[in-house]
This record gives sequence, C-alpha cells and structure tokens, in this order.
Amino acid sequence: MNIHPSMIGFDIDGVVADTVEAFISLAKNDYGIDSISPHDITDFMVEECLDMDVAIVTEIFDRLMEEPIACALKPMANSMEILHSFAQVAPLTFITARPDKAPIAAWLEKHLGGTIYKKVRLVATGEHDGKAAFIKEMALKYFVDDRVETCVKLDREGIIPIVYNQPWNQGKHNLPSIENWLAIRDLCGTNY
Ligand SMILES: [Mg+2]
Repeated sequence: MNIHPSMIGFDIDGVVADTVEAFISLAKNDYGIDSISPHDITDFMVEECLDMDVAIVTEIFDRLMEEPIACALKPMANSMEILHSFAQVAPLTFITARPDKAPIAAWLEKHLGGTIYKKVRLVATGEHDGKAAFIKEMALKYFVDDRVETCVKLDREGIIPIVYNQPWNQGKHNLPSIENWLAIRDLCGTNY
C-alpha cells in the first residue's frame, strides 16, 4: 500500500486517542480500582470482560465522552506528529461513533493546534454502524478503526478497513491491521 493522506480517515477512540489508558487511570485515581491492565480488555464492551460495576464503567465512559480534556485523555504515541505531516498535504478526516461532537472537537483542536484543526473534517455519528456512508461521502478509500464489527462492515461496503491492533480485536479478523502510528505512516510511504 502507498496511501495518499487524502484517501484515509480515522476513528478517534482506540486509534487517535488512548482511551483505554484514560479509562484505566480514571478507574484507579477516582474509583480506587487498580487491578486493570490493557490486556484484560479483550472485549469492545468493557463491562463484558472486566469484573467491574457496570455503573462505574458507564460513568467513566460518560466522562470520557463529555469531558475528554478534563479526563486527561492522551493522544496515541506519535499520532499528533504524523497527523501534522499528513495535514500538510490533505485535510484530516475523523469519524467517531461518539454522540457529541463538541467535546472531542475541543480535544482535537487542543492537540492538533488551531491552524490544523481549522481544516479538519470531523463527524460524530452517534452510532457504530453508520460510518460507511460518511466515509464514502468524503471520498475516502481507507479507514482506520479498532472495532472489528465496524471494519468488517466497511470491508463489505467496498472501503478498505485497517484494524488498529488492540487487545479487544486480536485474533478476531483477517483484515489488514497495524500496530501503531509509525505503521500508519509507513502505509503512506513515509513521504509525509
Ligand atoms: Mg474506536
């Protein structure tokens, strides 16, 4: 693959944002739960694989949705530098299943910087299975996501999914996958 940055779009949680790290930190610091390791999260539905009160899981995810900056949600390693270089040749496109756009828009603006953020295309679909239509509308050919069901659906819709490897998607698909942002840059030919 030698993907031009104008052809690829990105999910946010689990791809651009290290949502699991923030989840584990909040559980530890605010709820006194210090027994979770990222590798324990073997299911996209966290409450299915962790021995944790569902109400606490829900509360932590609500906080991450509503106030990602206050929750100290961090970008994935190397993501911002690489997105910066992609932004020199194409507008960046992010399509998230988050229900509210404003909080994650503020987070992206904070981490990407205002100049790059001005050219960002950001869609919050509010549901996991509605991404294909937006990806097509934005004329993208490739999409990076960590949710297997989303990637399988995109594949059926003629979009090339790239699975961002995470403990919850390991061994559950035969689609192209990548380990980190350096691998995303390599897919784009390292020219950017
Ligand atoms: Mg995700």
